[in-house]
Amino acid sequence: MGSPLVAILSGAGISTDSGIPDYRGPNGLWRRNPEAEKLVTYEYYMGDPEIRRRSWQMRRQNRALQAEPNAAHRAVADLERTGVPVRVITQNVDGLHQLAGMPARKILELHGTARSFVCTTCHKRGPMEDAIARVEAGEDDPLCLDCGGILKSATVMFGERLDPAVLGEAVAITKACRVFIAVGSSLQVQPAAGLAGVAADHGARLIIVNAEPTPYDDRADEVVREPIGIALPTLLRTLGEES
Ligand code: ZN
Repeated sequence: MGSPLVAILSGAGISTDSGIPDYRGPNGLWRRNPEAEKLVTYEYYMGDPEIRRRSWQMRRQNRALQAEPNAAHRAVADLERTGVPVRVITQNVDGLHQLAGMPARKILELHGTARSFVCTTCHKRGPMEDAIARVEAGEDDPLCLDCGGILKSATVMFGERLDPAVLGEAVAITKACRVFIAVGSSLQVQPAAGLAGVAADHGARLIIVNAEPTPYDDRADEVVREPIGIALPTLLRTLGEES
């Protein structure tokens, strides 16, 4: 008999130890700064070249692209290497699960990735470094080299829909898993919040690892408040030994 599927939903809190602040959450930097929020809002971005110029400067200075995975990201990859079936559903766009060694095919990025750019017209994608290099070389609003379309980060901006295929797969994994661990997520933003509810409805063992209380703590089998960098490795080692 195979080991039960473990689903790990990760939010901004898992990357705090890597020096990446919470941008997107209910109390995140963007929500507290309306001018910054415009830079990541689709309608403003597409309609205003000045917003795009400022967005590219923000991306150029974005330290998240230089960030390194931390003990929590490594613990997830380590669990996967023991042979336990693991899927990661992440709200983060930093790519740190992949850098820690978790296979990309086992990761669903609900909000896309800041490590790639995408053309808003022909949907061609490429490494973010390539677009940043063009900005550094003097193009303040680099356009698609294939079709001349507006380029953006491959993240889901405010005002954009989540990819329905990614979301559908996240729900399927959540329904199928036996253990669902929500780590570093406030569980106040959809779809993450809904997924925790789906996991509980389908009888998964729900474990919440977060510094602050979440609306799903009452439904959880286990709530862990210790720092993620210590708590998650311990928790996942125990799971690996149980499986
Ligand atoms: Zn294009």
